[in-house]
Amino acid sequence: MAFVVPAPETVSLPVSGSADRFPVRRVYCVGRNYEAHAREMGLTEREAPFFFMKPGDAVVPVAAGTVGEIAYPSLTHNLHHEVELVVAIGTGGRDIPVSEATRHVYGYAVGLDMTRRDLQAQMKNQGRPWSISKGFDQSAPIGPVTPVSACGAIVRGAISLAVNGAVRQSSDVSLMIWNVAEVVAQLSAAWTLAPGDLIMTGTPEGVGAVASGDRMHGEIAGLVPLDVLVR
Ligand code: MN
Repeated sequence: MAFVVPAPETVSLPVSGSADRFPVRRVYCVGRNYEAHAREMGLTEREAPFFFMKPGDAVVPVAAGTVGEIAYPSLTHNLHHEVELVVAIGTGGRDIPVSEATRHVYGYAVGLDMTRRDLQAQMKNQGRPWSISKGFDQSAPIGPVTPVSACGAIVRGAISLAVNGAVRQSSDVSLMIWNVAEVVAQLSAAWTLAPGDLIMTGTPEGVGAVASGDRMHGEIAGLVPLDVLVR
């Protein structure tokens, strides 16, 4: 059997402390999961988590100690950074209870949910899907996955993003409205999770624009930092 067109390559992330890699299947994202960011996006009340997706091949893997690169995307004049805790699913399932959710996590990484904010605003205003604002090429630079066996469950710890050395986003993972276990449980009620799935768990306040030539540095306590240059 042969494929009639070239088969897509499997995108994969480096794994901290290993030569092996984490293969990426889907990328799920949580909207507005920190109260202060929800407020800056105009939301005033607590709401159930909502989800959107990026294509798996929108992931730009960034190795430890290196600077990843993304091209400034087309169709936008307002490219925003959103630093996020990324959950790497190791064991699949559906309707996973909160009490068992962390057992499905292989590890964690630092990621950026890059966003064409101007297009997102247009799509929101028109009641249209967000895909063009969130799921574009190279929209998900992500650093190495640290296995749970090395870092434990991430339920608290500083999360930050600096641009050209100036801190823009600074918060704590404990301030997530829906924690990792709750996100996994709710997501698995809507989709069957599988090994290789990534979940971007939402960004804290302080999102803002980056320009060509800017360098972003994301950190989450206990994980490998992420450095990305916008070309
Ligand atoms: Mn986000």
